[in-house]
Amino acid sequence: MFKVNLHLLEACNFRCRTCFAHFDSKRLLSVDEWKRIIDNLYKSGRVNAVNFAGGEPFIYPRLGELVEYAHELNLKVSIITNGSLITQAWLDRYAHCIDMIGFSIDSFDRNISIAMGRCSCQGQTFGINEFLQIYPQLLAHNIKIKINTVVNKINYREQFSHNLAGLRIDRWKVLKMKAFDNGRFSNHDLAITMEQFNFFVKNNPYKNRIVEDSMVNSYFVIDANGDLLDNSPEAYGRVGSLLTESFNAVFARFNFDRALYESRYTEHELHAA
Ligand code: SF4
Repeated sequence: MFKVNLHLLEACNFRCRTCFAHFDSKRLLSVDEWKRIIDNLYKSGRVNAVNFAGGEPFIYPRLGELVEYAHELNLKVSIITNGSLITQAWLDRYAHCIDMIGFSIDSFDRNISIAMGRCSCQGQTFGINEFLQIYPQLLAHNIKIKINTVVNKINYREQFSHNLAGLRIDRWKVLKMKAFDNGRFSNHDLAITMEQFNFFVKNNPYKNRIVEDSMVNSYFVIDANGDLLDNSPEAYGRVGSLLTESFNAVFARFNFDRALYESRYTEHELHAA
């Protein structure tokens, strides 16, 4: 069974230079269109989990309704967010539908965050203090916690993991930055070598840490148009639309790396995340 990432929108209140969510999606789907896509995934018999992503999914106006809808179909629900827009009221209303929230945190240092563009236009960042404000609420609602960290030229020297000591982080995923250049956007200047990536990994031990240096075609991306994307190294190619075709028909054309997917989404991860 697969976990599928629903990138509801590309918009974000942060401006991270490492962000890979540049799919050139042309429009924002309505809640009803996303519900059709979630139905499509559910009916395929291949999908048991959805992850709401972006951009920043908390900008999508009716995220809660979609979370509730997927939960009612018995799909496992997770969200990946920069954390800055989560409110206690939202959690109180929808936490019962959510298995896990993943926080995209590349640095706990405000200056490093700003240097990476991981901040709003007003200079808001999401560091350890902001995380520690939300953390007790996540524990109280019994939501699993994941952190994703993308390592790049600006943060690879950071001592990061001591901030997590004593906290119940179910999974800390450490990824090597994937450099992009799509004409309008380039972050090749932030690319790091394997030695630099390994330097970060060595200096940041953590018991629930997993390390990844490739996500190519082992990750189901549905973009904000409702298309399954082929995340090959050079560009995001469109495999097909989940609004007009069944997931199984689109999946049959997907150049999918099953061995890599299974090595990442082990049985344990599918139940934990
Ligand atoms: S917070 Fe996430 S979605 Fe927003 S710009 Fe940064 S990486 Fe992209």
